[in-house]
Amino acid sequence: MSELLPCPHCGGKWALGQEPHDNASVASMWYLYHKNPRCRMDHPTYHFASRDELVAAWNTRTQAPEAIRAAALEEAAKVADNLSYKNNVAVVIAAAIRALIQSSERIGE
Ligand SMILES: [Zn+2]
Repeated sequence: MSELLPCPHCGGKWALGQEPHDNASVASMWYLYHKNPRCRMDHPTYHFASRDELVAAWNTRTQAPEAIRAAALEEAAKVADNLSYKNNVAVVIAAAIRALIQSSERIGE
């Protein structure tokens, strides 16, 4: 496990950095930084003693339940939008999914 998984928010890349050896409290420890400065994902500030520990922590982190729910709803909305067989049921389902997404966004504010 040596490659960092992509950002769960934007799909962009994260990279590893190592503190300078003369930065006493965190000397030579590893940290993460995002390569997409426009992403709104919270930036973790954890330091790890080893590169492998940091990569493992990032790649096995749990996602917030709201993020999982929002991603699932977005995926469902895309499926509903792209149904080749459109009928009233598909339209009602797509509208229901959009309403759920909007209510999720209000809760998350
Ligand atoms: Zn991102």
